[in-house]
This record gives sequence, structure tokens and C-alpha cells, in this order.
Amino acid sequence: MSQLQQVRRALISVSDKTGLVPFARALAERGVDLVSTGGTAKALREAGLEVSDVSDLTGFPEMMDGRVKTLHPAVHGGLLALRDDAGHVASMEAHGIKAIDLLVVNLYPFEATVAGGADYDTAIENIDIGGPAMIRAAAKNHGFVTVVVDVEDYDAVLTEMDAHSGSTSHAFRQRLAQVAYARTGAYDAAVSTWMAGAIGETQPRRRVFAGRLAQGLRYGENPHQGAAFYTDGLDVPGVATARQHQGKELSYNNINDTDAAFRLVAEFEPADGPAVAIIKHANPCGVARGATFAEAFGRAFDCDRTSAFGGIVALNGTLDGDTARAISEIFTEVVIAPDATDEAKEVFAAKKNLRLLTTGGLPDPAARRLAVRQVSGGWLVQDDDVGQISEDDLRVVTKRAPTDDQVADMLFAWRVAKHVKSNAIVYAKRMATVGIGAGQMSRVDSSTIAALKAGRMAAELGLPESPAAGSVVASDAFFPFPDGLLAAAEAGATAVIQPGGSLRDDAVIEAADAAGLAMVFTGMRHFRH
Ligand code: 5GP
Repeated sequence: MSQLQQVRRALISVSDKTGLVPFARALAERGVDLVSTGGTAKALREAGLEVSDVSDLTGFPEMMDGRVKTLHPAVHGGLLALRDDAGHVASMEAHGIKAIDLLVVNLYPFEATVAGGADYDTAIENIDIGGPAMIRAAAKNHGFVTVVVDVEDYDAVLTEMDAHSGSTSHAFRQRLAQVAYARTGAYDAAVSTWMAGAIGETQPRRRVFAGRLAQGLRYGENPHQGAAFYTDGLDVPGVATARQHQGKELSYNNINDTDAAFRLVAEFEPADGPAVAIIKHANPCGVARGATFAEAFGRAFDCDRTSAFGGIVALNGTLDGDTARAISEIFTEVVIAPDATDEAKEVFAAKKNLRLLTTGGLPDPAARRLAVRQVSGGWLVQDDDVGQISEDDLRVVTKRAPTDDQVADMLFAWRVAKHVKSNAIVYAKRMATVGIGAGQMSRVDSSTIAALKAGRMAAELGLPESPAAGSVVASDAFFPFPDGLLAAAEAGATAVIQPGGSLRDDAVIEAADAAGLAMVFTGMRHFRH
């Protein structure tokens, strides 16, 4: 196989016609013959370029509403033939097949079509068949053929050809072939993911995950790690689809934390009133409800004023001017909300570094998606944790029954605990967290840390007693021993919500009774590792 391959004939078939005409003109100027499908040929002719039709090449008209345009041996033979194989060359000659040296294709915009909320039939019609077939053929034959699937690569092709008197190098074709397969892989994954949603297929073992590059990131979790952001192409309100109104580009950590913040706050129905979450390192450092967003923010901030510095704030409704003013008092990296008033935007305009994102809505916390994480040698895939419990699911296990206010606080704390890294212990009072213990290897340590934070909150706010006094406590998984529960009781908690199910539940219930606590079991746990 020769290293350099002269580009003499290009087949161009693109849905996204961005940059098409200048690129095709530059190719023509370099002596390349152009062949195109219907819409592409029309655009090129209108620009005054000479182009032949694929239908002339195949001897067939484009048919069946474009379903069959390029699916023909004259095209696929021209893409797949090995130019240095006598048998292949003989076949080309025998059947009048002309070699195609450069393939430029971008696919029917399937992802954009479904993201726009298209109906089933429209989505199906936007599945490109001939395009991926040609891309895969050309990429396979990259020993001879250059394949371009991304408008961004047009300039690189011209630069490459100019560097090699109209040819491309093997290394260049290899790189583009790799990108081509990434594209067809992601395309079929988008189709399958959309279809799974359309027919209600949720089993992880029947699902696929892949995404489309949304953004190359400056770096990953640390500056020495490369990173990129891929989207699944589905139109779910959230960090992937949000509109950024101001501020620098989001970093890897920003995107991760903003997602955590928004998904937490989406657990709280807007109809039940404002809720605000402040996130640091993917864990909440304060979550609260309030009569207004400003009040909810203030209460969330009070939970852990120290940690909230440099945090990410999420709201479950429209950001208003008052709340924006309160937020801008504190160094905040990102604010995400379904919407923002003009006044709020004006307030933030003075804070150049603060990023404001609006999403147009909240993600459905019950929507089933895949959660993927990498291990050495593979990926672990599971359903997202969309488990939710209501008052009816609670089983009172202690002599003392919780009051209505305690039940409301317990359900609030439970929802927060679901979004805290295990082991998670959350103290809450009157719909605000007052102490959060996250990510400890021992549940009793998380209890201690949560109590310690409550103590610090008292000091920061000059409260006469720890806000944990009279609070409820949520534990994301069962207490294996009474010690964690007793630590919570000692800190002042008077009601406990936990899954139950420990071998020693009896001992834990006995300890709760002895401490005069009310305790409920949810029957569901929320590990988050
Ligand atoms: P045009 O705008 O040139 O009429 O169509 C370009 C689009 O058609 C490209 O997105 C290309 O991937 C797609 N395409 C090319 N050949 C075929 C085919 O045989 N069947 C289908 N369904 N799409 C094709």
C-alpha cells in the first residue's frame, strides 16, 4: 500500500452544508472531480461549481424518498477496492467502477431531530443508512481513501493535500478513519438510546452508551488529565443542554458538580415551593426549602458557610433579583436554574466570572437512564438511582411515632441523603439541612462529622444551641450497629429515617427506644459510591 494517495475524485454527501461550498471549491481548484447526492449537488451547482450526480455514477435515480441514493456497487466498489490488488482493479475495470479517493459525509441529523421532540416516524426517517455505510467502507479502506465526517476537519484536508502535492498521507487517513468510526458508533448508539426510550426498554444489558463530542475541555479533574464532554444527544434539561449566559467555559469539575446540584434540586417539585442546593465536590453542603428562593438560598448557605465558598448553586425554579443579589455576596462558581429574570441576569452581569446556566425546565427525577462508570478493563452500567419513597412507604419501628413535621423533615432529609456520597448522614430541621456527613468509610464517622458540622453552624451563626437539637437524621443505608444512631441521638436528633434491614435491627430499634427516638424504615437504600 502506498503511503501517499492522490485525491482525484471526491464524493460529497452532506446534510449539514456548513462550509461545504468553500471546501468543495478548494478541492475543485486542486483538480479534484466532485460527485454528489441530490441536495449537495444542487448547493454546489448554485455556487457555480461543476459536479456530477451519484445517480449518473450508479445508473439509478435516488429513490424511496432518499432512502436509496448511494447504496450501489458503483459507489461501494469505488470506496472499497484495493488499488494495489490486481483482482480488485480488474473488477473495477470490468464493471466501470471509478475509484473514490475522498469521501465527505455528514449524516442525517438524527440526534438534533429527536432532541427537537420529533415524533416516532420523523425520527425513523432521519436514520441515515447510506451515509454510515459509505463512511464505514471508506474508513475500512483508509489505506487508499480519505474520509471526512466533521466540518471541522475540512481545513485539515486542504492543508494535508497542499503539503503533499494533492495527496494525503497514511497517518492522516488513519486518524480520520478512527474519527469516522467514532461517529458511526455514536450515531447508532444515539438511535438505540432514543429507541429504548420510545419503547420503554430499560434493562442495562440491552442498552448501549456512546455520545457525541460536545466540547473538548481544557483539562480533567486535574490539570495533567485530558478531558472532553460528550452528550447523548437527548434533550433533557440539565448541564448538557443548558444555555450559558455569562462567565468562562465550564471545567470538568464544574460540569460534574453542576449536574449533581441540578439533579438534587430536581427532586423537589416546583409546585411545593422553592428549593436550593449548594454543592461542593459533588456533595451538597446545604439544601433548603423556603417561602422564596432568597430565603431558601440563605437557609442552604447557613448549613455550612465555610464549605459553600466556591460552590455551585442550583434552584428548582426561576432565579430572581433578590436571590441573585444574595448569591453574589458569596464566591460562587456556577448557578443553574430552569430560568432567570432579567433583573437576576443584570445582577450577575457585574460578576464576570460567575457562570449562569438556564435549562428551560427540570429533569424528571424518575426518568430511567444509564449510569456508567469505568473500571480497569471495562465499564459498570446500571440504572440511575431513581428510587423515591413517599410517606406511605414509611414503617414506624419505634414506640414513639414521628410527628407530621418530623415526617416532612425526614422525607426531605432522605431525598438529600440520596445525593450524598456514602456513607451519608444528613441532619435536617424545618426543611433545611443543618449537618451533612459524606463519604466516610464508617457510618459512625459520617454521623460524627455531620454533628460536628452542625456544631460549627451554631458557632458561625452565633446560635445558642446546636441546630441538630430537635432535628431529624437520615442515613442512606442501615445502621449496622447502634453506635451511629446513638451518635445522632447524642447530637440532638429526635427522629431517624433509614432503610432498615440490618441483622441487628432489633438492637438498633431497642437503642432508639431507649433514647426516646422515633424511627422509620424506608425499605430502600441509596448507596452512592
Ligand atoms: P443530499 O442533501 O445531498 O441530498 O443528502 C445528503 C445526505 O444523504 C447525507 O447526510 C448522507 O449521509 C445521506 N445519504 C447518502 N446516501 C444515502 C442513502 O443511500 N440512503 C440514505 N438514507 N441516506 C443517504
